[in-house]
Amino acid sequence: MSKVIISVKDLHKNYGAFHAVKGISFEVMEGEIFGLLGPNGAGKSTTLEIIETLRQKTSGEVIVDGFNLDQSPNEIKKIIGVQLQTSGFYPSLTLTELLHLFAGLYNEEVDPMALLDLVNLRDKAKSKYKEMSGGQKQRFSIATTLINHPKIIFLDEPTTGLDPQARRNLWELIKEIRAKGTTVIITTHYMDEAEVLCDRVAIIDSGKIIALNSPDKMIDELVATGFERPKEVKKANLEDVFIQLTGHELRAE
Ligand code: ADP
Ligand code: MG
Repeated sequence: MSKVIISVKDLHKNYGAFHAVKGISFEVMEGEIFGLLGPNGAGKSTTLEIIETLRQKTSGEVIVDGFNLDQSPNEIKKIIGVQLQTSGFYPSLTLTELLHLFAGLYNEEVDPMALLDLVNLRDKAKSKYKEMSGGQKQRFSIATTLINHPKIIFLDEPTTGLDPQARRNLWELIKEIRAKGTTVIITTHYMDEAEVLCDRVAIIDSGKIIALNSPDKMIDELVATGFERPKEVKKANLEDVFIQLTGHELRAE
């Protein structure tokens, strides 16, 4: 029996006269990886940042682990892990120094090595932030979401701009975090990412949820309507070829 950990009801967000989020409702279950999937401008980040207490909603109800966003935003902040803007990552500080700095903001004690182990960056503990590859930076930013031992972490397009090896590596990391009991809510505009990673996805377009289900069920429903791909589908794609040729190993490490 899983329990609802995030409940969003009839959420609206206006930016001036522009209606960015138009009455969306969904629930996230404890322990799942839940995806908000949609094209650029759909309203994914707006929705995420409202739940994270970082943006004001126009109307609607948001409850996180029993805490109402209107009454108890500080209680919500204590149990969530938010990816900090990379602009806050002073480029000349080492990873260990940055983790101590962020831990201070959360008023938490931190074991930098344990956190860096988790994201496979132990050997970079003394390296400066600016010296890391894109994939390493993303892994590090995920480590910062875990400083306050959150029940839920929020990841906004964590793999955008990464090469195939780094993307797959990050998917594994996100699955490991979930396996430890953390609920994950992630936004993406990559269909393949949602399909391999998410237990359930809400497809969001122009501020509205147009479908919500497991990726598997969505595909089954489409097939049940008689849908067929125009051409016979090959058993591999170009990314498979690329990974086969270049290997799974991370680059620029
Ligand atoms: P997504 O994350 O899905 O790409 P966003 O939530 O960032 O979408 O944005 C949804 C819509 O709201 C977009 O059309 C965007 O231009 C607009 N928008 C986002 N933030 C602001 C803002 N601060 N002021 C005005 N419009 C905004
Ligand atoms: Mg966004």
